[in-house]
Amino acid sequence: MTDSRIIVAGCGVFGSVVAERLASAGHRVLAIDKRPTVGGNSASRIDPVTGIECHTYGSHIFHTSDEEVYRYLLRFTEFTPYRHHVAIRTGGRVYFMPMNLKTLCDFFGRDFTPDEAKAFLDEEIRKSGIDSPSNLEEKAVSLIGEKLYRTFIYGYTKKQWGKSPSELPESIITRLPVRLNFNTDYFNDPHQGVPLDGYDRMFRRILEHPNIELRLNTDFFDLRPEIPSSTPVVYTGMIDEFFGYRLGPLSWRSLKFEWETLDTSDFQGISVMNYGDESVPYTRIHEFKHYHPERRDVFASGRTVICREYPDAYAPGKEAYYPVNDAKNKALLAEYRKLAETCPNVVFGGRLGSYQYWDMDRAVGAALDCAADILRRGMIPAQ
Ligand SMILES: Cc1cc2nc3c(=O)[nH]c(=O)nc-3n(C[C@H](O)[C@H](O)[C@H](O)COP(=O)(O)OP(=O)(O)OC[C@H]3O[C@@H](n4cnc5c(N)ncnc54)[C@H](O)[C@@H]3O)c2cc1C
Repeated sequence: MTDSRIIVAGCGVFGSVVAERLASAGHRVLAIDKRPTVGGNSASRIDPVTGIECHTYGSHIFHTSDEEVYRYLLRFTEFTPYRHHVAIRTGGRVYFMPMNLKTLCDFFGRDFTPDEAKAFLDEEIRKSGIDSPSNLEEKAVSLIGEKLYRTFIYGYTKKQWGKSPSELPESIITRLPVRLNFNTDYFNDPHQGVPLDGYDRMFRRILEHPNIELRLNTDFFDLRPEIPSSTPVVYTGMIDEFFGYRLGPLSWRSLKFEWETLDTSDFQGISVMNYGDESVPYTRIHEFKHYHPERRDVFASGRTVICREYPDAYAPGKEAYYPVNDAKNKALLAEYRKLAETCPNVVFGGRLGSYQYWDMDRAVGAALDCAADILRRGMIPAQ
């Protein structure tokens, strides 16, 4: 099979970083992925017709406040100074998200100062009369009042989860940010951008180490019968699939992406436009050229690539995007974690292996910790 001392299954953010850290510590690593690409859900590709860099699984913007993570990635890429802004079309108007003072002024047709907006919002919340919310709808109304909830949250959330917010647990949201200033940034983190020459190049550089053998189009489950039980494995696929779904499948939400190339230089003027109305079946449209205004020729060309994002029910075989962190799935996850403890040579990691939604920086941070832990525990036999 291999004389590698450790196998890393999955070359997304988590697997790539673990593989690099272990390889740099002197271990031979076999890194596999069932896909033909590196970078997992953060993969990018150049559209052959327009030359536009497209994020294969929807917009990915790197953002972090974690200096260690940022410094680590700077060894493999520079980031552009891109700062993310998101607009939303809802009720026949366009606003910025998250809601800010301009959103409030436009929506309520007022000229608020920050203090006036705060007093107005407090009154909206007081009018809602909800003290102990029992579902997501009540929670949202208790945070921002009924009118903002109906326009900005209700339709989008219902489409995203395929259920009315009144049927969703209130624990899905802890806060709904409303900025009382004119800051239109989507993220608060000091470090933001996209890799200057794309995610694909960044991940290939991370994996380009003489101690790493990279095998794409290779499914862990095809290789598994040949792997000696003493070989350590870092597994970043789905934890329930690893155990043959023997306790039942964990629930996910999936997405469908509908791609289109258009003969226009700028379709929507922004990289992400959300759609809040329930009557529009998609939640967002991505327009990828806006991530790289510095690629002037491509940016100025008369063509653009867009992608409509439709929430979709998950079934095994589809891509799993968002874990459904309700009580039933949390209990099932706890059972799978007990099973995982019976496999001392396997480390379960990444968003699929840990059944968590993580932004990329969180996945990098977790991978750095995981690799350090593997080295500290001496999990890999000496060569
Ligand atoms: C729509 C969407 C948008 C997002 N936007 C952002 C964003 O703007 N900014 C941000 O920071 N984060 C964003 N994220 C989160 C980001 O995608 C994750 O942080 C990242 O994917 C986590 O990396 P990972 O390695 O844990 O998982 P993944 O990227 O899913 O990688 C897992 C890899 O394992 C492979 N694999 C699975 N099973 C097997 C198997 N049996 N054999 C071999 N290989 C296998 C898969 O093919 C995959 O390549 C977004 C997520 C979604 C769903």
